[in-house]
Amino acid sequence: WGPMILGHAHPDVVRAIQEAAARGTAYGAPTAGEVELARRIVATFPSIEKVRLVSSGTEATMTAIRLARGFTGRPRILKFAGCYHGHVDALLVRAGSGATTHGTPDSEGVPEGVVSLTRVAEFNHADQVEAYFRAEGREIAAVIVEPIAGNMGVVAPRPGFLQRLRELTSAAGVLLIFDEVITGFRVARGGVQELTGIRADLTCLGKIVGGGLPVGAVGGRADVLDRLSPSGGVYQAGTLSGNPIAVAAGIATIDRLSAESYETLERLGARLEEGLRRALRDRGVRGAINRQGSMWTLFFGVDEVRDYAGARASDVGAFGRFFHAMLERGFYLPPAQFEAAFLSLAHADDDVDAFVRAASDALSAA
Ligand code: PLP
Repeated sequence: WGPMILGHAHPDVVRAIQEAAARGTAYGAPTAGEVELARRIVATFPSIEKVRLVSSGTEATMTAIRLARGFTGRPRILKFAGCYHGHVDALLVRAGSGATTHGTPDSEGVPEGVVSLTRVAEFNHADQVEAYFRAEGREIAAVIVEPIAGNMGVVAPRPGFLQRLRELTSAAGVLLIFDEVITGFRVARGGVQELTGIRADLTCLGKIVGGGLPVGAVGGRADVLDRLSPSGGVYQAGTLSGNPIAVAAGIATIDRLSAESYETLERLGARLEEGLRRALRDRGVRGAINRQGSMWTLFFGVDEVRDYAGARASDVGAFGRFFHAMLERGFYLPPAQFEAAFLSLAHADDDVDAFVRAASDALSAA
């Protein structure tokens, strides 16, 4: 699921957690570590002028949409099919990840009224966003997107898609929220925004920023963040947010991520992709591999996947058989077609090669 970019129990992270725990575990007030982590986030993402730490990715997106509504005074939000933004009621509409796997993208327990202000467009189809903007642009507070989708399996934005979202939202006074809970510090230190140069109004972070402990963050334009309580009227709080142990793990993790780390992850990812493509060819299995650096998905039974409809056309039965065949061979993949798999810096070429050998074997068995 992505937080463990250094691998499990990295000694520096374990030491940071132990030292923080020995000092105390929760104070309710901001701590020095919280400020240190916030400083690093602000230094990494040029679009983030101010940041609020929370305790999960879900809290980050929940706060981001409340803030966008409070700032713009508009009620509606627009999301994309197959994008998952945590278990926020208003965002559990055609969400990916577990919701897609279980065939119930709209969760029970979420009344229609709660999602009546949520609009859904197809990922990579900017024309649908334009149509919504023409019809009800003045009512829309924010567009929220996984800028590289991870929760319908990995799906990259088509060239120009994110740029178009930036242009449309800027022109309509709509806030653009990049949910970089997976991609932040994953595809590059500064996430998709570093890769593309596009600046979101608000950015949601999680996973890697907590180094395996519960941390999330919402950051962005200072004029927007100033509307958060206590300086502004948009309420947000959290007893355990900015927890000293969690932020220590986050700081220890991101301080070990250098330009070289991302070169290593790209090299490992390319090796894995090449090996898997060879295995598919050799075994005569139809499949598409989508990869962005160290995050990747092997979709079964399709030649390419560029949106949610494409992802859903894949053969989940074949994925299930592959998953179990890999488990028997000692490799635990994300247990669903609609998830991203991740490489970490604890992996080496040998691990990748062993994985590819097992996959080749599993493909013939599956
Ligand atoms: N946003 C994205 C893109 C995610 O992938 C996830 C979790 O997988 C979330 C938000 C929610 O984060 P959390 O599980 O920490 O609440």
